[in-house]
Amino acid sequence: MSHQISVMVHTPAHSGIGGALTYESDTTHAPGTLVRVPLGSRELLGVVWDEAEQHAQSDHAATMQLRSVASVLESLTPLSAHWRQLVKFAAHYYQRSAGEVALSALPSQLRDLSAEQWARRLKRKPKALAAFESTTPTIPTPTDEQAQVLADIAAHKGPFLLFGNTGSGKTEVYLRAAQSVLEQNPKAQILVMVPEINLTPQLEARFRARFAPQWGTGCLVSMHSSLTPAQRLKNWLAAHSGEARIVLGTRMAVFASMPHLQLIVVDEEHDPSYKQQEGARYSARDLAVYRGQLEGAKVILGSATPSLESWHQSRSATESEPAGRYMRLAMPSRVGQGALPLVRRVDMNRQPYKTVFSNHLLDAMRERVTRGEQILVLLNRRGYAPVLSCNDCGWKSECPHCSAYRVFHKLDRTLRCHHCGFTQPVPRACPTCGNLDISPLGRGTEQLEEHLAELLVDLRRPDGEPIRIARIDADSTRLKGELERQLAEVHAGAVDVLVGTQMIAKGHDFRRVTLVAALNTDGALFSSDFRAPERLFSLLMQAAGRAGRDANMSLVSPCEMWVQSHHPLHPLFEALKQHDYPAFAEQQLKEREQATLPPFSFQALVRAEARSQETAQGFLNAARDAGAALADELLVDLYPAVPMTIQRVADIERAQMLIECTSRKALQHFLAHWQADMQRLRSAHRQVIRWAVDVDPLAI
Ligand code: ADP
Ligand code: ZN
Ligand code: ZN
Repeated sequence: MSHQISVMVHTPAHSGIGGALTYESDTTHAPGTLVRVPLGSRELLGVVWDEAEQHAQSDHAATMQLRSVASVLESLTPLSAHWRQLVKFAAHYYQRSAGEVALSALPSQLRDLSAEQWARRLKRKPKALAAFESTTPTIPTPTDEQAQVLADIAAHKGPFLLFGNTGSGKTEVYLRAAQSVLEQNPKAQILVMVPEINLTPQLEARFRARFAPQWGTGCLVSMHSSLTPAQRLKNWLAAHSGEARIVLGTRMAVFASMPHLQLIVVDEEHDPSYKQQEGARYSARDLAVYRGQLEGAKVILGSATPSLESWHQSRSATESEPAGRYMRLAMPSRVGQGALPLVRRVDMNRQPYKTVFSNHLLDAMRERVTRGEQILVLLNRRGYAPVLSCNDCGWKSECPHCSAYRVFHKLDRTLRCHHCGFTQPVPRACPTCGNLDISPLGRGTEQLEEHLAELLVDLRRPDGEPIRIARIDADSTRLKGELERQLAEVHAGAVDVLVGTQMIAKGHDFRRVTLVAALNTDGALFSSDFRAPERLFSLLMQAAGRAGRDANMSLVSPCEMWVQSHHPLHPLFEALKQHDYPAFAEQQLKEREQATLPPFSFQALVRAEARSQETAQGFLNAARDAGAALADELLVDLYPAVPMTIQRVADIERAQMLIECTSRKALQHFLAHWQADMQRLRSAHRQVIRWAVDVDPLAI
């Protein structure tokens, strides 16, 4: 007898085939089973989907000759109902097809291996894991604050927002919470998410050191984009089979198949990297909260500077408003002696024009370096990329394909576009007037490093050697392993001054850093992006947290963070000086509430791309007209289409349209219906190359 089964496959985003396809099969297959099915001339990986999804195509199914399932990925337990529900929810919420979300959440080798290769893969015996060479880990006694937080986590349902300073012992809380989950349930699994795994090998090491002695080396696997396809499959299978008890990963790990998930930790929950920026633009943090609720797993979101969304969501009840959905747990103190650094502000209005390092700051740096202490110089990358310009006619190194300037890279003397990648050697003379005097405007990290080297050239370390300055940014670490190598040098103390972008502010444990200097921060104070101050504040707090981690160092000389600004009295810097995130958050939330910006409203962006701005905007405005009546009814605001900030990339014009509503539910309802309108409009707007919706966008 033959059965009809529905199978979810990855169809193109706007093919109009959103649901599952129907196939014929000799036997029934449980929902969640992985199969291979023919589609056109290709064979695709698919997931057997629930019966209820079948309607998408059932009219056709009655009349069409159904094709058969090609093969079944034998001996793989079906993906759970929870997993399928997570995929369904994410697809619906972020306006993508469930097939796309489901299939991109699975390791590519499941798709790419042939039936024979798969059979061989299954036969492969897992290599005997090397015994973990370590004595029993020394587990510190929790501080009072940690004990209180752990008791709250044990006693309540959550989700929890763990608001703790850098160095307050949040990681130790994650470890202990994980420990108790592992001990209570012999099968329990834990998902730990970090924003960028490259920057956090230390966290993995800490988890391994803590749990491998008792649960074996295989108890922990990682999931992130720098794994090879084979490693990714291996780790995915370990999580899927329940063998791996802990999965540590970046945003993609939120979709890991974990049949016994009991605890989810989202470290640095405020980090923008949790938002996927292409395809299904999901927020892994928000999905983690949903997943926790779905599966009955506790969720801990941790940060020293929570996102304003999470902060607001964890507010306590007032007379007029009920409490938020999250439970806020605070750990205000740093463990041990390491004090938070003293924040010093330099008023740049009082410095000579074009000063990069004020004399006060230079003196402080000189003093510390000669004593053998380390310094971090943090640059806000924006505005620092050097553009080449002609001093005669005003020519600038524009990219011919984008509405952006190309950046001067001194090392290989090229002009490179950071948007489309277009690269050319630096011209000998100005391309418009022939003037030989062309030079960089503004300073990049490279120039800054050189400038600093000149300023500090006469200095010696305590051992009499000249001081060493290093630079860490996207360029200096393009080669694989380079970041790790450079960081190791800093850790080993070979580097005295480290210059870098936000990359150096995150997560590293630089023991001997006693001074952090932040340059060029003002742009974010008056940015058109309403989230810019929030990001700057968290960046500076995080950078400040790099200093004074070694109690012994800070006893010798109190740690300092220096901020150079033309607006030293700005409330953001006032709050920074007091290390007072709650004050900063309150001030920002007040502004957001007055302007009805998130978290007091919900947003979505539709972006469209075409050869001309007119075409792209034309499509968006037609969509706006089509949705106008429903938007009115649901109190959804549709703004007119506008060019994107970077309007042209690689000769493609880009436009966007903002959608706003004070109700998340109404916005969701609107988007779901509106998709169909846009689908229909597409045929009248064939020049539009692509369009996509971004729900809860992080940048507008
Ligand atoms: P966070 O994650 O909040 O930055 P960590 O958990 O990394 O903080 O803790 C900071 C430092 O304090 C680490 O070196 C850690 O080993 C140590 N630490 C944490 N908790 C304790 C404790 N209860 N007793 C002693 N040391 C602790
Ligand atoms: Zn010129
Ligand atoms: Zn370009």
